[in-house]
Amino acid sequence: MMRMVLLGPPGAGKGTQATRLAGRYGIPAISTGDIFRANVGGGTELGVKAKEFMDAGALVPDSITNAMVRDRLAQADVAGGFLLDGYPRNPDQAIELDGMLEDLSAKLDVVLEITADPDEVTRRLLLRAQIEGRSDDTEPVIRRRLEVYVSSTEPLTSFYEGKGLLARVDGLGDIDDVTARLVEAIDARSIS
Ligand code: ADP
Repeated sequence: MMRMVLLGPPGAGKGTQATRLAGRYGIPAISTGDIFRANVGGGTELGVKAKEFMDAGALVPDSITNAMVRDRLAQADVAGGFLLDGYPRNPDQAIELDGMLEDLSAKLDVVLEITADPDEVTRRLLLRAQIEGRSDDTEPVIRRRLEVYVSSTEPLTSFYEGKGLLARVDGLGDIDDVTARLVEAIDARSIS
């Protein structure tokens, strides 16, 4: 049973690694970005609200995001653990998550930060733009997302470091190597 959070700049490979780790540990990967994109694609009210923020590279307002995550964490499949990818993304969300977990009488086991150089992630995202055509993978929006990461999300690393939960993992190199580093960091912390 593991409850994990994955932090890291856009383009660090969180989504790829989240899927792999979820498979390995038998827990659902919960990606707020994927949930938002599914809602945008489905034209739901939530999607309509989220789209303008996503396309600007800004965070979707906390009131929307927190409520969405609270609902997701209330579902039965997270009782055996979960991996959050893309949440929390600012200090208020981190505090909100603490409250949600307290209500569930649950605690995080580890917060993994995938580190990556800004030039490298920009290169990766521009490459991905050609393949996937995500509307927020244009150069100015990528730049904005990186700024938001540095100003809003990176401060969470010290928050979680202070709680003794943070593990930093180098996100450069082969996808398999990064997975192996993450698994090592997780297994070093799991109480089992
Ligand atoms: P990336 O990490 O590559 O920027 P994501 O798929 O995680 O991509 O997120 C895409 C967009 O979805 C973000 O730029 C933001 O607009 C929105 N989003 C995702 N997670 C959150 C969150 N926790 N809080 C606010 N907005 C979010």
